[in-house]
Amino acid sequence: MTTRLAVIGAGPGGYVAAFHAADAGMQVTLIDADPNPGGVCTFRGCIPSKALLHAARVLDEARHAEAFGVSFGKPSIDVDKLRAWKDAVVKKQTGGLGLLARARKVKFIQGRASFVDARTLSVETSAGEQKVEADAIIIATGSRPTTVPNVSIESPKVLDSTTALELPDVPSRLLVVGGGYIGLELGTVYAALGSKVTVVEMTDGLLPGADRDLAAVVAKRMESCAEAILLETKVTSVRDDKKGLSVAFEGKNAPGGSQVFDRVLVAVGRRPNSNIAGLDRTKVKVNQRGFIEVDAQRRTAEPSIFAIGDVAGDPMLAHKASHEARVAVEAIHGKPSVFEPRAIPAVVFTDPELAWTGLTETDAKRQNIPVEIAKYPWAASGRATTLDRPDGMTKLVIDPETERILGVGIVGVGAGELISEGTLAIEMGALASDLKLTIHPHPTLSETVMEAADVFYGESAHVYKPKKSKI
Ligand code: NAD
Repeated sequence: MTTRLAVIGAGPGGYVAAFHAADAGMQVTLIDADPNPGGVCTFRGCIPSKALLHAARVLDEARHAEAFGVSFGKPSIDVDKLRAWKDAVVKKQTGGLGLLARARKVKFIQGRASFVDARTLSVETSAGEQKVEADAIIIATGSRPTTVPNVSIESPKVLDSTTALELPDVPSRLLVVGGGYIGLELGTVYAALGSKVTVVEMTDGLLPGADRDLAAVVAKRMESCAEAILLETKVTSVRDDKKGLSVAFEGKNAPGGSQVFDRVLVAVGRRPNSNIAGLDRTKVKVNQRGFIEVDAQRRTAEPSIFAIGDVAGDPMLAHKASHEARVAVEAIHGKPSVFEPRAIPAVVFTDPELAWTGLTETDAKRQNIPVEIAKYPWAASGRATTLDRPDGMTKLVIDPETERILGVGIVGVGAGELISEGTLAIEMGALASDLKLTIHPHPTLSETVMEAADVFYGESAHVYKPKKSKI
C-alpha cells in the first residue's frame, strides 16, 4: 500500500520532507500559503537576506580596498535594481523548488490547512475548500516574529524581518531593536547601504547565545559601522509623528529624551506557529512556549502526526528542520531513525561572520563540563593577512581527558563556510590530533582549524610561546 503523506508548510523542513517522502515512494501532498515551496527561509528570510548581505559585502570590500590602493569612487546604489535582483534570486530559488516538486509528482496545494481530525485536513484555497486525507501528517509550519508591545505600533515605518527585507528604502536613521541574528544581519545590510544604524539590545552584549570572545569581534566591527549600540537598554515607546518615529528608551545606556528615527526594525526573536486551526481535535500537545511536543523521531502525542522545524523546538534553524525532515520521513517509512545530532552549526552572517557548532565554552561552564580551549588568532594566518582581515579567531572546545573535539567556534570572514569541518569532526568523534594531522591547503582560512589544534598541543608554527626559563 502506498503511504499517503500530507505536509503542512513548505519551508526547508516541509519541502525537504515532501521530497524525501516522494523519493521513498510515498504519495505526497504539500500545502503552503505561498505559490511555491520555499517557506519563510527562501521567500522572506535566509535567501533574500543573504542576497542583500552579498551586496553589502561588495560595498564594504570596495570601500576597504582603498587601504591597499584600489579606489572605485563613491558607490552609486540603485535601490530599485538591488530590490529587483534580490526578488529575482528568490523567484529563481522558489521556482526551482516548484519544478522539483512537480518532477517528483508531489501534489502542491496553495492554501491554509486546518485539522478536521488526526488524518484529515481541510485546505482553504482560492478555488474553495479541499479535503486531504492522509495516513501520516507532518506539521512544518515554522515560526513568526515576536513583537514588543510598546514598539508594535501600527505604522509602516516599523519593520519586522519580512518588511525590512522588502527594502522599502534606505532610511537615513534606522533603529534596530534586538542585537541577535536578524538585528545584526539586517543592521549590517542597511549600514552598508548608507543608513545610520543604532542597535538597542536588552542584555549586556550582542548575540547573547554566542561565546563572548567570539561575539566581541563582531561587536567591535559593528561599533565601527553603527551610529550607536545601546546595551542593557530597552525601548519604552515609539510614536509616529511628522518628523519620523520618536523613540524613548530606558536602561543603562538609554539616551536622554526621545530620539527620532526614520524606521525601526524589531528583531527580538521568533515564536512557533503552533496555532493551527483544529489542532485541538487531535492528541497533539503544545508546550508552554508554544512548541509542539515531539519524541526523538519527531512524532507527536498523536501517532499519525509528526512535527519538525521551528514549530518543534529550538534552535530555529533551517538546516535543523531539514535534518528532522529526513528523520520523520524515515520513521514514517518504518525505519528506526532518531534525531540525535552531536552538533548543530549556527552561523550569523554579519561581517565578519560568526559560527559555532557543538558545545560552546559558555555552555560548558554553565553545565560544569571540564573542557580545554585552544584558540588560533587570525592575525597569525597568512590567508587572513592577504585579505587584510585579521579580525578573526578559530577556537576549539576539547575534552581534556579524551582530546575529543566537543565544539568549534569561528569568527572571521567566511566563518560560515569553515564551520562544517568542525561539525564533521564532532559527528565523527575526531580528536584534536586528527585535526592537527590532517593536511590543510595553504594559504587558506581553513588552516586555522588545524592550527588551533596545534595550539592545543603547544606546537603551532605561527604562534610563538616562549618556554618558561628553567633556571
Ligand atoms: P534572536 O533571539 O537571535 O535575537 C533577539 C535579540 O533581541 C536577543 O539578543 C534579545 O536579548 C534581544 N531582545 C529581546 N527583547 C528585547 C527588547 N524588548 N529590547 C531589546 N532587545 C531585546 O532573534 P532574531 O534575531 O529575531 O532571530 C530569530 C531567530 O531566527 C533566531 O534565533 C534564529 O534561530 C533565526 N535566524 C537565524 C539566522 C541564521 O541562521 N543566520 C538568521 C536570522 C534568524
